[in-house]
Amino acid sequence: MNPSKPSLVEQDILHQLHPYTDARLHQEIGPLIIERGEGVYVFDDQGKRYLEAMSGLWSVALGFSNERLIKAAEQQLRKLPFYHLFSHKAHAPSIELADKLIELAPVPMSKVFFTNSGSEANDTVVKMIWYRNNAIGKPAKKKFISRLNAYHGITTVSASLTGLPANQRGFDVPLPGFLHVGCPHHYRYAKPGETEEQFADRLAAELESVILREGPETIAAFYGEPLMGAGGVIVPPRTYWDKIQAVCRKYDILVVADEVICGFGRTGRMFGSETFGIEPDVMVVSKQLSSSYQPIAAILINEEVFQGIADQSHAFGTLGHGFTGSGHPVATAVALENIRIIEEERLVEHAAEMGELLQAGLARFADHPLVGEVRGRGLISAVELVADRTTKAPMGSVGTLGRYLAGRAQEHGMITRAMGDSIAFCPPLVSTKAEIQLVLDTFGRALADTERWLSMAATT
Ligand code: PMP
Repeated sequence: MNPSKPSLVEQDILHQLHPYTDARLHQEIGPLIIERGEGVYVFDDQGKRYLEAMSGLWSVALGFSNERLIKAAEQQLRKLPFYHLFSHKAHAPSIELADKLIELAPVPMSKVFFTNSGSEANDTVVKMIWYRNNAIGKPAKKKFISRLNAYHGITTVSASLTGLPANQRGFDVPLPGFLHVGCPHHYRYAKPGETEEQFADRLAAELESVILREGPETIAAFYGEPLMGAGGVIVPPRTYWDKIQAVCRKYDILVVADEVICGFGRTGRMFGSETFGIEPDVMVVSKQLSSSYQPIAAILINEEVFQGIADQSHAFGTLGHGFTGSGHPVATAVALENIRIIEEERLVEHAAEMGELLQAGLARFADHPLVGEVRGRGLISAVELVADRTTKAPMGSVGTLGRYLAGRAQEHGMITRAMGDSIAFCPPLVSTKAEIQLVLDTFGRALADTERWLSMAATT
């Protein structure tokens, strides 16, 4: 090795500012360098294998070495590596993908708009709804309501929809006009003795009171993930979505389903909207849309929303919105192939089946003294750790237990994610029974380590 040449770790510390990373701490500890992927596993530069129990960022549905996706990208790169959709241009992969998404949508949808990321998609939805409401003569109807702990992205507008302090603190967001109502997390926020249905009633009543306080004529849309992902894998209480949608319909408020995590089988149905009975006016998908082999997101809008946008763009002579990469031919070709594979290999049904194993296996930890709650749906779940099951109190500051356990899991060869003290599991849709069992076994080892660590701390 050339001693004067800095290592990759040194170069990384020198020149990369990492997303979602403590920049100061990173200077000390540097990165874990992931070198290659194979099936549900990734390998670091020392050859150590990790089961990717988060599918990367909730996204690599087909695992890390799918040959058909690689071929789809290669073929498209050779044929037409780039073209755009501006000024009435189009290409086959974007047309076919839009067509496929409309076919799959759980409710009648009319048009698809492509972006590169979920954040851009959510920014686009806000702008499109503003634009449409101007067109239909409702220029005051501009506010958006989302939930505390929601995750909708990090661009200026999507970070305003997001309801997590880490994404807002220090960034001068949310912007005015973005309101947040209560998080539908029964374990944390229900009153003592309150049933799921009563909790859902209270959240719907809170939404209605916010709408009445602001004036229904000022509220454009309600924004929600069918099941909240990055905020802690929060499964809504029974009847929640029915009640929320009834309030929205009463006051002429659009319902937007952010399916960026839930879409394409994650909750055991093709869309989270189907799992939870949502009939959205607008839907946003990304992540498992292409298994993240290419960056892409899509917005689906219904006919009513489209008509306003069409009128407005006609009056102005153009729809003044679009990204260089909107509907990128390689990304759309990969997404199309990805959906074909999900359908041909019946991966939604498979995810439902594997999901039952995951949920049942995690439920066996529910009585453990460090486990407050086990929750999830399909192939997405979380185990919330507590120091005291009665008071639900954390150990020290929130995140201490979660960080320790996730670190032990990584030592044992599994990548998971601690969201505060909730450990998330979101394995690839292609996971086998043996791989799900390995997730459960590795979690069990990391949990036992955490218990030992606490008892050692107590005796020293
Ligand atoms: N919405 C949801 C529900 C998400 O989980 C995410 C990303 N985790 C986003 C939007 C933002 O997507 P991106 O990171 O591609 O901007």
